[in-house]
Amino acid sequence: MAMDERDLHLDGNAAAGLLSEFFRGDPTMTESACAGCGAVVAVGALLAYGAPMGMILRCPRCEAIHIRAVDAGGRFVIDLRGSRCLWISDANLVRQE
Ligand SMILES: [Zn+2]
Repeated sequence: MAMDERDLHLDGNAAAGLLSEFFRGDPTMTESACAGCGAVVAVGALLAYGAPMGMILRCPRCEAIHIRAVDAGGRFVIDLRGSRCLWISDANLVRQE
């Protein structure tokens, strides 16, 4: 039986460590609206594909990319073009006093 590329993903909880560089606490309950199909999905329920330097999180409904997060050696890059909107709770915001 051949392995399908879609079998290689994890759930978005696998991205919690990398995303915690941007969010305080556990970011997996942060909701993201898909720019492709409009589905609102918790980050932990997105499909996570690992890459050597980062992670790609795809929509479980249409497979469009919501978030790309990359550790670019000394700085982090987060590409949110595929997320129409993120709902980040107060518990996950890093605020400067
Ligand atoms: Zn979608």
